[in-house]
Amino acid sequence: MSEKPGVETLGLPVGIKACLFDLDGVLTQTAKVHAAAWKETFDEFLRARAERTGEPFVPFDPVADYDEYVDGMPREDGTRTFLRSRGIDLPEGGPEDTSGADTVYSVSMRKNELVQRRIAEHDIDVFDGSVRYLKAVRAVGLPTAVVSSSANCKDVIEVTGLVSYLDARIDGTTAAQEHLAGKPAPDTFLAGAKALGVQPSEAVVFEDALAGVAAGHAGGFGFVVGVDRVGQADGLREHGATVVVTDLADLLDQK
Ligand SMILES: [Mg+2]
Repeated sequence: MSEKPGVETLGLPVGIKACLFDLDGVLTQTAKVHAAAWKETFDEFLRARAERTGEPFVPFDPVADYDEYVDGMPREDGTRTFLRSRGIDLPEGGPEDTSGADTVYSVSMRKNELVQRRIAEHDIDVFDGSVRYLKAVRAVGLPTAVVSSSANCKDVIEVTGLVSYLDARIDGTTAAQEHLAGKPAPDTFLAGAKALGVQPSEAVVFEDALAGVAAGHAGGFGFVVGVDRVGQADGLREHGATVVVTDLADLLDQK
């Protein structure tokens, strides 16, 4: 008689019945792609502005600024939050605005174009340890969802093949349709738990962003795994991670 391995083989507490994975930085190395696209977008914008105003050009820091102001947030919130950190308040704008003026919308669109170009070029790597972990989750039989702020989530999980390990998807597109607040609000993770038919206390959140672990904490999830890709373990703990690992595979075979 064969017996299924239990959740303890996944490094998770007894009682956990479902797994909710952030995408960028947890399953895929898209954080790299996003950070590069943000840098190109903001540096173009800041350089042009510096030339116009005579103020010094201070480039976007793809580590510090990325982690603090944009990582894990819906795109337009990222644009707004970073620019405000530089004392810049742009009008919101929108698809109907054809003036060519700088707006939160136009800057965000530029960033999205750069990300989409990289996805189309299949310039996306998955974390091998995360694929190992997803296979182990499958062996235990827990349902899984990807919960991402990215509007490109569907393309990314299809291009990378991750879609075969994921039962549900809550992303930037579904969040907009269902009017869900972005991370650090817990709404998208709560929607993920609901999609899998479990209570938040029965689900584990895997997140690499400070805003993401904060969302897991705020949602009352049973366990929040902070995935430290950039040396911010303390920050992840402070924002609500129950445990911090550098790779999902670290959780396997702990005994
Ligand atoms: Mg992330």
